[in-house]
Amino acid sequence: MLEPLIDAFGRVHDNLRLSVTDRCNLRCVYCMPEDVTFLDKAHLLSFEEMAHFVRVAVPLGVRKIRLTGGEPLLRREIPSLVRLLSAVPGVEDIGLTTNGLLLAPHAQALHDAGLRRVNVSLDTLDEGRFRRLARRDGLGQVLEGVAEAKRVGLAPVKVNAVIIRGVNDVDVVPLARWARREGHEMRFIEYMPIGAEPWERGKCFLAHEMLDAIEERVGPLRPAAGRDPRSPAMDFEYDDGARVGFIASVSRPFCKSCNRLRLTCDGKLRNCLFALDEVDVKPLLRAAPDDAALARVIRANVMAKWEGHEINSARFVKPERTMHAIGG
Ligand code: SAM
Repeated sequence: MLEPLIDAFGRVHDNLRLSVTDRCNLRCVYCMPEDVTFLDKAHLLSFEEMAHFVRVAVPLGVRKIRLTGGEPLLRREIPSLVRLLSAVPGVEDIGLTTNGLLLAPHAQALHDAGLRRVNVSLDTLDEGRFRRLARRDGLGQVLEGVAEAKRVGLAPVKVNAVIIRGVNDVDVVPLARWARREGHEMRFIEYMPIGAEPWERGKCFLAHEMLDAIEERVGPLRPAAGRDPRSPAMDFEYDDGARVGFIASVSRPFCKSCNRLRLTCDGKLRNCLFALDEVDVKPLLRAAPDDAALARVIRANVMAKWEGHEINSARFVKPERTMHAIGG
């Protein structure tokens, strides 16, 4: 292997978030606007171009890939991308983040293609609040998707919920109970300033508040044994070993141990979810492929990464792209 992908703060990067589309079949209020112009399909990277990027990034140390979007299952033939990426020597782990609407019909094919881990986003078990948050219906389909993912062996399914104060903080306890009963790993995410709606710190229901509610009404928790210190989730376990995690991007930023880089579906390289600059690598994959130049661009992009996301400082500037167009 070549020298690892390291930034100016010594963080080693081995984790790639690969967004495959900016399209989505939901319109979650915290993520994207209702009226949105999606990218022209001609601008999207092809699966072969994505695999090409990965073949250049792996010798630099990338080991883990998470497919995301937009809604990745809207991209047709996504199992063939999983198959292409699984065949790249050195790729150790491929995961997928989905809203679950199309998961039931795709779960088996994804598993057969080599996918082993899936995260499903689900913010409530209440149909009315689902509609209010997602601006679409679909709770039943998501629950079917989660059950099918478990049945085909994509287990434990991780279920991610963004919690907004006054909107779905009442869902923390029901979601935690449901996940514990069904054997899924629930992960609660603090609401971040990356969507289309104006963000207010007061709307952010903090991880310690979620933890308190669960300890009081579901069961005592202790820090999970053997947790990966580089994982963004603070993992806890109940006395029976079932796990629950908290992604406290606002109250306990994990920038110091960040190991992620991101490639948007239109070929822009970003070294942080909140980055204000991005580098267009599509020309190096399409018009004039040049692997050595691509490797240099990836290294330079990682090296230029900021110390942290600045959400908690007066310097914070919200990126122009909203979450659906970056890849969460
Ligand atoms: N469509 C897929 C899904 O729903 O999981 C993948 C893309 S979505 C942008 C990825 C993740 O970003 C989801 O778990 C979503 O809840 C999270 N997300 C979007 N906007 C967010 C925000 N403002 N704060 C925290 N998490 C957010």
